[in-house]
Amino acid sequence: MSNNQHIRTRFAPSPTGFIHLGNIRSALYPWAFARAKQGTFILRIEDTDLERSSQAAVDVIVEGMKWLGLDHDEGPFFQMQRMERYKEVLRQMLEAGLAYHCYMSTTELDALRERQMAAKQKPRYDGTWRPEPGKTLPPVPAGVQPVVRFRNPIGGSVVWEDKVKGRIEFSNDELDDLVIARPDGTPTYNFCVVVDDIDMRITHVIRGDDHVNNTPRQINIFRALGQEPPVYAHLPTVLNEQGEKMSKRNGAKPVTQYRDEGFLADAVVNYLARLGWSHGDDEIFSREQFLQWFDLDHLGKSAGQYDEAKLRWVNAQHMKMTSDTVLASLVQVQLDKRGITAPVDQRLAGMCGLFKDRCSTTVELADWLAMYFVATSPSDEDRAAHVTDAVKPAIAALADRLAHADWNKAAISQAIKDTIAEHKLKMPQLAVPVRVLVCGRAQTPSIDAVLELFSRDEVVTRLRSA
Ligand code: GLU
Repeated sequence: MSNNQHIRTRFAPSPTGFIHLGNIRSALYPWAFARAKQGTFILRIEDTDLERSSQAAVDVIVEGMKWLGLDHDEGPFFQMQRMERYKEVLRQMLEAGLAYHCYMSTTELDALRERQMAAKQKPRYDGTWRPEPGKTLPPVPAGVQPVVRFRNPIGGSVVWEDKVKGRIEFSNDELDDLVIARPDGTPTYNFCVVVDDIDMRITHVIRGDDHVNNTPRQINIFRALGQEPPVYAHLPTVLNEQGEKMSKRNGAKPVTQYRDEGFLADAVVNYLARLGWSHGDDEIFSREQFLQWFDLDHLGKSAGQYDEAKLRWVNAQHMKMTSDTVLASLVQVQLDKRGITAPVDQRLAGMCGLFKDRCSTTVELADWLAMYFVATSPSDEDRAAHVTDAVKPAIAALADRLAHADWNKAAISQAIKDTIAEHKLKMPQLAVPVRVLVCGRAQTPSIDAVLELFSRDEVVTRLRSA
């Protein structure tokens, strides 16, 4: 690869089932590589499995990528819309003798397979219909629609230098002549991938290692079509918390659910980036740093294991790094879901600034901020424990003072101190019942800062409910 090669990568999901974190990591790396190298990132939807593909799954892919900021430069291309192109290449291959019609029926194939198994051989197509110089082919049976098979090279091997796994070699003898079109003429998976990767001028294929076994077949088709194959990087699987391959069947959540649960896109990008790639010991980094650092030389060889507690920790770090204004617009969405209308303004940003350090998601942040917009109901235990008859006169006095104080942190703080002094109390003896009455809980950040963000009337009314 020359240094000034224009990098073109792609993400080629099959829209079967809702895309989860494990799948979308296969979008993150090609996206990051394209961005890091000023290349082009392409989205291609592999929707030829009509039974299992759905528009809803396409929507989650597009929405999830948009949320995570994995923007594509070209596409989405849909394989179902490219059928004519595949058929054209099939015709060319048949004409050029790179592929041939095979009339072997399923019954014959099954019988062949059984004979091979009985003889302890690996089942493979035996080349009955493969034309060779001087060979007479069987008579074409009437009424049988043939499949098209690719003429795989005989002898030798297919070798590639995988960016993750190193040198991989498959002997051609292990690869039989792949069916590239079904009896009804529809092209098959491995063939479509190659035509697409050629037409889309893909330079680097970065995908899950469940495709390693397809790669030698794809490379042979590339070469038959007179093209050099792209660079391959096969990513190890992502395991779930139980150590199984992450999949929808065993509880993986759709990517968009993380957004709904209050995770930040940058944190998820950071977390996923580290789940199969490293930059020294760096755990927490911004999107910009990631793009500066990303390369294919530091992809990990072993499977990454998903750990939700770690993801929450990464998210908490990103909550701290995120500006209050950005958090305000994210928490607004969460509040809105609870029926709370909160304008994105200085006050909401101030609340985010005050509470973000103690929250690992924007859902937790919304749990805190709700008290500013709807009445709180302190628990009976908290009331009994903290809002005692002994302290009620001090609370009433504080309410009176605050009713006339300037409404800022310093003045609120002064009113509290004056009340404590007057009633000979220690700070927590007043501050805790104030928290319980105003915030509905006994622990909060510094009480003057918390109160300042309420309206004066609201604080006084809640204190007078003692
Ligand atoms: N559609 C394939 C999948 O979802 C990916 C194919 C590829 O990246 O070559 O597993």
